[in-house]
Amino acid sequence: MTFEEIGLKSEVLKSLKELGFEAPTPIQEQAIPYLLGEHSDFVGLAQTGTGKTAAFGLPLITNIDNHATVPQGLVICPTRELCLQIAKDLETYAKYLKINIVAVYGGTDIRRQMTEIKKGVAIVVATPGRLMDLIQRRAISLSSVEYVVLDEADEMLNMGFKEDIDSILESTPEHKNVWLFSATMPAEVARIAKTYMENPFEVSIGHKNQSNENIDHIYYQVKEKDRYAAVKRLIDFNPEIYGLIFCRTRQETATVAEKLAKEGYSAEPLHGDLSQAMRDRVMDRFRSKDLQILVATDVAARGLDIDNITHVINYNLPDDIENYTHRSGRTARAGKKGESLVLINTRESGKIRAIEKQMRTTFTQGTIPNAEEICEIQLMKLINKVIKTDVREKEIQKFMPTVMAEFEDLSKEEVIKHFVSAEFNRFIEYYERAGDLNAQTSKDDRGSDDRSNRRDRNSDGIESGKTRFFVSIGRRDGLNPGGLLRHICDATGLNSQNIGRIDIMTSFSFFEADDQYATDIVRQVSGTNYEGHDVSIEITKAKSGGGSSHRGGGGGARKDGSGFGGKFQGNRDGGQRREGGGQRREGGFRSEGGGQRREGGFRSEGGFKKEGSTRSEGGFRKEGGSRSEGGFKKEGGFRSEGGFKKEGGGQRREGGFRKEGGSGSSDRNSTFGKPFKKKS
Ligand code: AMP
Repeated sequence: MTFEEIGLKSEVLKSLKELGFEAPTPIQEQAIPYLLGEHSDFVGLAQTGTGKTAAFGLPLITNIDNHATVPQGLVICPTRELCLQIAKDLETYAKYLKINIVAVYGGTDIRRQMTEIKKGVAIVVATPGRLMDLIQRRAISLSSVEYVVLDEADEMLNMGFKEDIDSILESTPEHKNVWLFSATMPAEVARIAKTYMENPFEVSIGHKNQSNENIDHIYYQVKEKDRYAAVKRLIDFNPEIYGLIFCRTRQETATVAEKLAKEGYSAEPLHGDLSQAMRDRVMDRFRSKDLQILVATDVAARGLDIDNITHVINYNLPDDIENYTHRSGRTARAGKKGESLVLINTRESGKIRAIEKQMRTTFTQGTIPNAEEICEIQLMKLINKVIKTDVREKEIQKFMPTVMAEFEDLSKEEVIKHFVSAEFNRFIEYYERAGDLNAQTSKDDRGSDDRSNRRDRNSDGIESGKTRFFVSIGRRDGLNPGGLLRHICDATGLNSQNIGRIDIMTSFSFFEADDQYATDIVRQVSGTNYEGHDVSIEITKAKSGGGSSHRGGGGGARKDGSGFGGKFQGNRDGGQRREGGGQRREGGFRSEGGGQRREGGFRSEGGFKKEGSTRSEGGFRKEGGSRSEGGFKKEGGFRSEGGFKKEGGGQRREGGFRKEGGSGSSDRNSTFGKPFKKKS
């Protein structure tokens, strides 16, 4: 369906064209035709990022009389940020319709808002508290309201606006249309629907409590005392992170943000103890990407709708699972990919299982990267930055003879080594003292719900009683652990209890399942289709090398195959290397194995930056393709690739980087190891 076919006014179509909205999103496709109709009570279960603002905003501006001077449309939402965002979006959509839209929210001068309302308004976008205030002051009349939109209804109720919402709805005419949007459907939201709506049309994008499929949920098990150090490593391992760290309390938020800022990370806190002006300033900086990391409480981050957030880090899990849905939903908006990383202590894995169950999603266990892995990432970032640096020939010309004379006695290789060491040594020194932060699960916590990592494993690392399968599609085909789990269960009729560990790699995957179903699984899953991709599966011959990455979990930030495979003998990525090796041996997958390592090596590079989003996204893949092609053509495969230490490996990479450099992506982090320097 196109926007033209949906029945919007031509003025609205014109704005959409300017915005570059080519086709409706699923929620828009389902909601808009209905909301344009006469009777249209509606419940939309959709996460933020699905396009829900336009789903209600487009029919709203189409339906109302654009010359109205008393409110016909009323949008109620939980926070000031969201209120401003919705009003701005509506104004953009209604650019050619000249509709008066006013945003009213707390924390600012109420008189100014009263004056604006007095001047005449067709649509009011409001937070509940301020709207109540206006109603009580008789500064607004809701007697002509025909459409009430409750956006993020679950959030409003979480925030204690239950009575306000009831009062507001009671202040509106009996005959009206109520459009309710919510990410989740707790009993209280259902009560509102029941009380104020007649036969509402319900649209659910995904399962009610289901997470956005584009989010990778990864948990890391660490000792309680290592939480902070672990967060730092996750940031260091993702130098291009544009992320949100969630803490449970204001105190914790302040402490974590302060420590990060002190250590030179671009991080600031957002919590209720800050003045509105300070919160606005922080938000503006974060929105404009002047700030890389926002450390926030659940309440402060409510309604924070920013595209392109690459990572949500849960410093602690929230007490309420629904809050986890909201937290993780801050990433992977508008069809992008994102990662929600969770730190748990050794006794908390039950909480992960509870979230998996409620959200019908699957977590992967990640491994907090070790010193070598982080150094590698940061080194690549440095090298990439150097290669991409513009050389100002004219300006440096006069210094060059002196500079060249200084380097006269050094070979090219020595120059490179010196230059790398000049920047890199402090990183190595810092991490030399750093141990492994991955904690073992406490014995008490080995519950029967644990599917993936802690059961007895045989010498190949496969869980006893399970068979390991190779799957011909991977992350770049849109597969994620939850998707694969559902696909296998749908094809075979098995349930998730029969399926064990799942490892999604870039272009292929692995999973384990109970031995007795092995033949059935191969028969029933092979030849199926996953979102347009043919799926074939085989039993892996793990014993002879095609094994798995169990020790490290193979998941987490490295699960796309960072870590350069064979570079560090005996490190946790050994599993990944073995997988690559296994594929090569089986034939036909040589390029995959190579691709894995190669992509990993470039993780901190331009593709990511250019896209301003997660590593696992399109840009990354696209670039990976061209790089590995170059690598193959020039070097003829990766078998001999040994990493930096070996001669020749560097050459290959250099070639790859040059190519990257040509893509000219922008680099916000100006120096390697930036996290260790104060951002000026
Ligand atoms: P929302 O869920 O309303 O917060 O929207 C998420 C993002 O998707 C916003 O940046 C919107 O501008 C964008 N968006 C909404 N609808 C479309 C569409 N049909 N095509 C492209 N982008 C869209």
